[in-house]
Amino acid sequence: MERGITVARNGSDKTYSGPNDPPSGSGMLQLVEELYPIFRSITGSGVRQTLGVLQKYIPVEMREVPSGTQVFDWTVPQEWNIRQAFIATLDGKRIVDFAAHNLHIVHYSEPMDRVVEIDELRRHLHTIPDAPEWVPYRTSYYSKSWGFCLSQKQLDRMTEPRYRVVIDSSLQDGHLTYGELLVQGRCDETVLVSTHICHPSLANDNLSGIAVATALARCISEPQPRYSYRFLFVPGTIGSLSWLATNEDKLQNIKYGLVLSCLGDAGDVTYKRSRQGTAPIDRIVSHVLRHDGRPSKIVPFTPFGYDERQYCSPGIDLPVGCLMRTQPGGYPEYHTSADNPEYLRPDSLAHSLAILQQIVGVIEGDASYRNCSPKGEPQLGRRGLYRAMGGQSAVGDQHMALLWVLNLSDGKHSMLDIAEQAGLPFASIRTAATALAATDLLAPLSNNSP
Ligand code: ZN
Repeated sequence: MERGITVARNGSDKTYSGPNDPPSGSGMLQLVEELYPIFRSITGSGVRQTLGVLQKYIPVEMREVPSGTQVFDWTVPQEWNIRQAFIATLDGKRIVDFAAHNLHIVHYSEPMDRVVEIDELRRHLHTIPDAPEWVPYRTSYYSKSWGFCLSQKQLDRMTEPRYRVVIDSSLQDGHLTYGELLVQGRCDETVLVSTHICHPSLANDNLSGIAVATALARCISEPQPRYSYRFLFVPGTIGSLSWLATNEDKLQNIKYGLVLSCLGDAGDVTYKRSRQGTAPIDRIVSHVLRHDGRPSKIVPFTPFGYDERQYCSPGIDLPVGCLMRTQPGGYPEYHTSADNPEYLRPDSLAHSLAILQQIVGVIEGDASYRNCSPKGEPQLGRRGLYRAMGGQSAVGDQHMALLWVLNLSDGKHSMLDIAEQAGLPFASIRTAATALAATDLLAPLSNNSP
């Protein structure tokens, strides 16, 4: 039976059925576990295999860009694939074996099969002396090299004068592969959601973003959303550059954007602002986090990190922020074998998805209305909107939301403006506006309203 993203319903996990059911944290973790053993790099069969798995859950399309394609200042590299790699004693005992862990090989290592003196070999070995059980993650995409990553404990056991080193890899003209899913909305204005897909066997940095983005795509595809949503599953840097360089005509439609990564650890949510700093997406995420009830952190844009570096380069300058929990490099397990599925918390994955759904809720629900009875307060009671019992000194948030919507719906304030001024969560302002719009008191100002 096909493994499905599961959804919590009435306290039990069931196979995902309805497109609007939010996948559960354990369902997303299950997808992480399914993708974890696949070897991925910036090119090669692992990216295709990964997208093949995602296609069981969402109709993501595979795009291929030929090696040698010029993308802005970069060139799409040759396609790198690897079948086996190991370091063995001269009598054939394998000391370090790629078959045992995907992190053991430095990405883009050139093919070789020769006996190497230990002094030369050591210059090609990478360990983490402070965490002697862990294997680090290293890449050398754009300079010719070879190397292995291993635990310090493995290295300490290497006492022979020479070893046989075998790397059965190929570096040939081929393609860079990425995934793209467009959920066409009622308008062409677009929300960009991008996550990287180039890390092998690393759970929080890479797979958590893939799992949460996949879950989000499932949540919003039906009924048809107001905005269009473009999901990109791209190899870091070269993948986003490839998409940007070949889709410049689509950039003007991107009104909001988020890069997703590191969304499954136990840390608090961190939002990194777009380069613009005060773009609508920055304001929306700030609003959602302020009303979330859990601690969170908002940090300014820096030209370092994930693909926001490309989306927010000066000649592109899209309103794209980055949603994370603990920032890359901010946890010791980052880029090591300890960033594995056991490091992830289902509750954190579920909370990250819930935050994204609220962000989408504001994007979809924000609009401006006109109070059709602006002279004096309209009489809410005869429209069934006012509690029957008067005289209480305080009113609830829901009633305050009605009063705020009526008072500020003067054509100059959006629902988000009103929520901010009222100090109320967007959802209660949205609920009040929907209730008022069902009467003769409130009318939308534009055609493209929720
Ligand atoms: Zn990384």
